Amino acid sequence: MSAERYPHLKVNDAEVYDLIQQQTTYEQTTLKMIASESYASYEVLEACGSVFTNKYCEGYPGARYYEGNEVTDQLENLARERGKQLFGAEHINVQPYSGSPANQAVYRAILKPGDKVMGMPVSEGGHLTHGWKVSFSGMDYVQIPYGPDPITGKLDMNRVREIALQERPKMIWAGTSAYPHILNYSEFADIAKEIDAYLVADIAHINALIIAGVHPSPVPYCDIVSSTAHKMLRGPRAGFLLSKIEDRYQSKYFPTSKFNLAQRIDRAVFPGLQGGPHMHIIAGMATAFKFALSDEFKAYGQQIVKNAKALAAALMDRGYELAGGGTDTHLLILDFRKKEFTGKDASKALAKCGIIGNFNMVPGDTRSPFVTSGVRLGTPSLTSMGMKENEMQKVADWIDRVCCHINNIDEIAPTIRQEIADFCRQFKAPGMSE
Ligand SMILES: *Cc1c(COP(=O)(O)O)cnc(C)c1O
Repeated sequence: MSAERYPHLKVNDAEVYDLIQQQTTYEQTTLKMIASESYASYEVLEACGSVFTNKYCEGYPGARYYEGNEVTDQLENLARERGKQLFGAEHINVQPYSGSPANQAVYRAILKPGDKVMGMPVSEGGHLTHGWKVSFSGMDYVQIPYGPDPITGKLDMNRVREIALQERPKMIWAGTSAYPHILNYSEFADIAKEIDAYLVADIAHINALIIAGVHPSPVPYCDIVSSTAHKMLRGPRAGFLLSKIEDRYQSKYFPTSKFNLAQRIDRAVFPGLQGGPHMHIIAGMATAFKFALSDEFKAYGQQIVKNAKALAAALMDRGYELAGGGTDTHLLILDFRKKEFTGKDASKALAKCGIIGNFNMVPGDTRSPFVTSGVRLGTPSLTSMGMKENEMQKVADWIDRVCCHINNIDEIAPTIRQEIADFCRQFKAPGMSE
């Protein structure tokens, strides 16, 4: 890297330059434990900062509405080939601007407004776009909720099946934002088949775990798989959709359509929802896919879960309770239902000390969603920095110190904040200047 990473901004826009410097320091000196974050590589950042941001390419490779797309066609095809190879998918669309727009396209491709959709409520670990009432998905479609058992914190697939048979939704989401266990896509597929429902997996949070083979791949079982390219995949902030080409329910739900499933998804993304694709972001996605195909990336995916398990064990050793009793993913949810302080109190106190997570509902939570009884913490960023199981012991110690001093946090925060900054500086995250 050259000594100065942003020479033009430094000279010509000191305000933005200064904010980038501040954000870089924050990224280098805190324990970033928001489960949906990691670090994009230099390569991804460079591709996203490239001249591809200048180009208009409405349409798809070989069928654009603007001239001059000889190079961008190659770029989009490269991203598509790498993405299909990575997941073993028949079809991919790399144009969604982010995960939520990708999910919007899923609805547009296979449902009609008013259709029933089975999904996990946000309060139980699902995503906004799975039918939550304040999102388009809950306003225009009818959410049939299912969620983890309030006692065990785990999904009971018999219960999921009962709800599905009773309500007969047209689509089932299998995907979560705050659930610490492996989803059984094969059982979801059996349930969906029984009621002629589409099965859509949303792997935004866990794609690297699938690539690493720690979690099963939903691709063979699902009609569509939605994902983000950021989060633990370490690509740019964007979404992509994997799918089968043919629609197994074409004659039942789309008897007069001349478009198959893959074509309906593409048409839902463009022109259904979006205009010109963000080619600089697709460049970043292509390079993120290349890295995700490496053995090094698989090791990273495996280490994410090892670290989460080590952190969970270290916290339970120190007397903490975890929602669902532990983790077999990248995240854990501290359960503070029995404590006097709330999840929000704890996440604020942790952040003051340099441990950045978020407050989160726990199964059976009786506190309001604005304060909650839980804190969600994830390991993708720490793993990207190079931390392993041993470091998780230290992290658990800091979390414990913070939670024991919630009431006088301002007295100890500066000391812990400094310890954590010094500790983080011993590691090097992808994409961070030296
Ligand atoms: C993060 C997430 C998304 C959406 O991502 P955005 O890019 O923030 O719109 C979709 N589904 C799940 C399960 C997620 O966790």
